[in-house]
Amino acid sequence: MAGAPVLILLGPPGAGKGTQARMLEADFGLVQLSTGDLLRAAVARGTEAGRAARAVMAAGGLVSDEIVLAVLQDRLAEPDTGQGIILDGFPRTDGQAAALDALLAGSGQRVTAVVSLDVDDEAMVDRVSGRYTCAGCGEGYHDRFKLPAVADFCDKCGGTAFRRRADDTAETVRERLKAYHAQTAPLIAYYQHRGVLERIDAMGSIAGVRAALAAIAGRVAA
Ligand code: AMP
Repeated sequence: MAGAPVLILLGPPGAGKGTQARMLEADFGLVQLSTGDLLRAAVARGTEAGRAARAVMAAGGLVSDEIVLAVLQDRLAEPDTGQGIILDGFPRTDGQAAALDALLAGSGQRVTAVVSLDVDDEAMVDRVSGRYTCAGCGEGYHDRFKLPAVADFCDKCGGTAFRRRADDTAETVRERLKAYHAQTAPLIAYYQHRGVLERIDAMGSIAGVRAALAAIAGRVAA
């Protein structure tokens, strides 16, 4: 739909992009598009894209622009995205940013706002390497920062199965941080130059970041 908001969340692994995107989805009716989730689904289904992406993801590198764009384009073709989207983990390279502009221009759209979630790298290694989620409802937990109130039972749905991402080890997070600084962080200047960049200090509480993001989303998604 022409004119529907396109919000981008930029930030290294652990900055809270996924958590915040899910809350924005609930609060503003935008649709979260996480290329990491799309790629993990492709890996789980064993599609051609998934088979090509698997080893790169396990090593903490970036999957090729071609594959990422293919999975994103498939998802964008679904009708629910017409109400506006939050891109979580995309774009991650210059080439992806240019491809996104071209893709949006095709439907009379453009990037509405880009929010950089600013955090400290070392804290991200601790945040990411201890995190896990409920396999039933997706609620997020952390070995040190957020355990379930009753051990081994999800606070939200009572589920007892939990999972950890294979790439959430301290070693792989360091590789993912390197990839972020080398290839993704330069996009901050790119979007600043275009006048669409906002920055949030994302070292604070989830609720504090949510409020700051809501103020931005309220302006662009109204
Ligand atoms: P994420 O869930 O965003 O942390 O992404 C997990 C992994 O998927 C990354 O470490 C990359 O290997 C891959 N990935 C996700 N999104 C992209 C992207 N836009 N470009 C390249 N690789 C990606």
